Amino acid sequence: MEDKNLKSKFARYIDAGFPIIYLNTFEEDKVDTIIKEVSSGREIYEWNETSGYIDFETKTPIFEDFTLEMMIDQLKHDGLLDRKIILLKDVNSYLEEPRIVSKIKGLARLINQGAEATIVIVSNVLIIPKELEKFITILEMDYLNSDEIKKTIQNFIKKYELDEVKDNLLDEFAIAFKGLTEFEINNLLALSYADDGELSRKDLNLIFGQKQQMIKKAGILEMIPLKETIDDIGGLENLKEWLKRKAKVYKNINKAKEYGVDMPKGLLIAGVPGCGKSLSAKATANLFEVPLLRLDMGRLMGKYVGESETNLRNAIALAEAISPCVLWIDELEKAFAGIGGDGGAAEVTTRLFGNFLTWMQEKDSPTFVVATANDITKLPAELLRKGRFDEIFYVGLPNDKEREKICQIHINKRRPQDLKNIDISKIISKSKGFSGADIEGIIKDAVETAFADDKKDIETNDIVEAINNTHSLSELMKDSLEKMTKEYESRKFKNASK
Ligand code: ATP
Repeated sequence: MEDKNLKSKFARYIDAGFPIIYLNTFEEDKVDTIIKEVSSGREIYEWNETSGYIDFETKTPIFEDFTLEMMIDQLKHDGLLDRKIILLKDVNSYLEEPRIVSKIKGLARLINQGAEATIVIVSNVLIIPKELEKFITILEMDYLNSDEIKKTIQNFIKKYELDEVKDNLLDEFAIAFKGLTEFEINNLLALSYADDGELSRKDLNLIFGQKQQMIKKAGILEMIPLKETIDDIGGLENLKEWLKRKAKVYKNINKAKEYGVDMPKGLLIAGVPGCGKSLSAKATANLFEVPLLRLDMGRLMGKYVGESETNLRNAIALAEAISPCVLWIDELEKAFAGIGGDGGAAEVTTRLFGNFLTWMQEKDSPTFVVATANDITKLPAELLRKGRFDEIFYVGLPNDKEREKICQIHINKRRPQDLKNIDISKIISKSKGFSGADIEGIIKDAVETAFADDKKDIETNDIVEAINNTHSLSELMKDSLEKMTKEYESRKFKNASK
């Protein structure tokens, strides 16, 4: 099962004399079993926040009111560090206390100098004080793969003598449970069973609800409601065609794979602000008929060493757990600016970026990535290489035909009855250099003004007036737009428009 890997790594680390092993998990029960197995006869001292120093086997207190500090001081005495495992649970808040941190460091030094002991910290949050960074090795519990999940379900069925679950339902369960730990899966199985004494298709909803909870708790991903469809995008015909083709593959992935088609990875949409990048990300999820998760790169960066990586890892694991889904990474350039530079922050970014690239390269789950960026000059070249994204599109200012479509879409949303009376050609000629968002803005203004003036319908002139009162994007950003366009053309990105 999943822990084989973890167990053997753990055992190797102990044998190799690693001073501190940090187990990043909340599956405490399981940790006890694993530690016992890897201890190979070493004595285990356990300390936790609730009970202090306790007997590892019976969990009864050995000394009343024995603080963590007293425990560490005690251990420094001769002989006490001989073939020992020092198991510390719920100590995260102590890892922010310099006094305790420096005492733990003292112990770690003794171990490095030859004391045969290992400190094992178990926690579901990862807090690694800078001072201990050199001494700590992080171990994480892996999520189960499909076969392991199926085995877990079958074991559960056997244990409770339930009716066998049909093969295709078992497959669906395996997909739904993806990204959960064994502990969580068993909990959910127990919950489903307690509900009505069986495991059935309707339990899949329960699992989905649970996953939504996980997203909320983790706080790095946001589930975006799906309103926009591909028909809400005016223009960008090349991009839309491409997306429709990928949707066909994605929605028939088993057939497609059998045929020899690769799993779609995702795309990068870069370009001018307000021209439909976010809109396209949302429409993609709708087209693919899967949930949309937005990854906030700003929230990912943590203040402790290793925290950002753990956050990214968790976000990715969570997205894979929810998958099939679209993972929208907004403002990609913000996350990965400063790569390759000097200093702590740049190093974190570079590592983070490396992890992301590896994931993109190796990804075989139905997590379709839509990354959006305004300024690709800030993006590292490795990201733009083939094999990371299936395609990179650039979105420029809408041309005449596109502005016509965008105009129609936004009038249609608010005043469909007025569409036939409006001379769109006039609006097109007056709105050169306007972005999609600009056009939406002028339609909104015109509708509001017409209402305020007690007009029965909106007329072409209302819109023209709104145009005259607006500074277009190309006026506001003339120089940088020209530079951007040149950049895209020289890099030979695909134009999203026809
Ligand atoms: P930013 O980089 O500033 O986030 P963006 O390219 O992601 O910009 P969107 O958020 O997609 O821009 O566009 C803003 C709004 O402008 C959209 O919600 C939509 O109402 C309108 N809009 C932009 N482009 C189009 C388009 N091609 N068709 C229809 N509406 C559009």
